[in-house]
Amino acid sequence: MISRTELGRVLDGLLKPADIKDYCPNGLQIEGKDRIKRIVTGVTASQRLIDAAIDHDADAIIVHHGYFWKGEGAAITGMKKRRIKALLENDINLFAYHLPIDVHTTLGNNAQLGKLLNFETAKPHPDISPQGIVFEARLTTPISQKTLATQLENVLGKKPLVEGDVDQPIATVAWCTGGGQSFIDKAAEAGFDAFISGEVSEPTIHSAREQQIHYFACGHHATERYGVKALGDFLHEKFGLDTTFIDIDNPA
Ligand SMILES: [Zn+2]
Repeated sequence: MISRTELGRVLDGLLKPADIKDYCPNGLQIEGKDRIKRIVTGVTASQRLIDAAIDHDADAIIVHHGYFWKGEGAAITGMKKRRIKALLENDINLFAYHLPIDVHTTLGNNAQLGKLLNFETAKPHPDISPQGIVFEARLTTPISQKTLATQLENVLGKKPLVEGDVDQPIATVAWCTGGGQSFIDKAAEAGFDAFISGEVSEPTIHSAREQQIHYFACGHHATERYGVKALGDFLHEKFGLDTTFIDIDNPA
């Protein structure tokens, strides 16, 4: 059991949202009950996740994608009204951390993807993204495009979209989970052999072809499950909190 205030303090202390410029408010987005016993973690605060959290008797939900994005309409209507109504009626707290969960050097989405891929030298690249949302690894033994594609498919449970010269080995890899595809140009400029992102756009493929960089698009959802999951595991281990990661499948 933890109080809402204390949980907020723990999360803010760990994820340091005040240090990061973001497109949404990070931290407590919807206030629920004061005492928190059961926590559900998930990628996005969708209706399905909220419904699953209600079934699970959760007192708080922690997500990577919450609400109130810069540029979105301010009115609480339609889909947004239904989601918020369900949270308020059930007195469930919603905590959301966007970029703070991408950049965290051990629990974050990028750090966790590096860990899943057994990239021992994984660390944020200091220049490609000064915020720290692009990670890099240098491999001691170069691997083939096929090997990395298979590894990604095995850890993420989803076949990646792959572009690049199959005969060129990979010794250096840069990556950015989620919608990080536009960083491919900076990764190519910095001389990386391969770049991995969640989402892909039409220009990304041309960037890969014309700059001779291997490219792997692995899914926004698939690459961003692991940060918030690791955060839940951390809260369980460190504070004995009852945390459950609920994966609401999303093919995008
Ligand atoms: Zn995302």
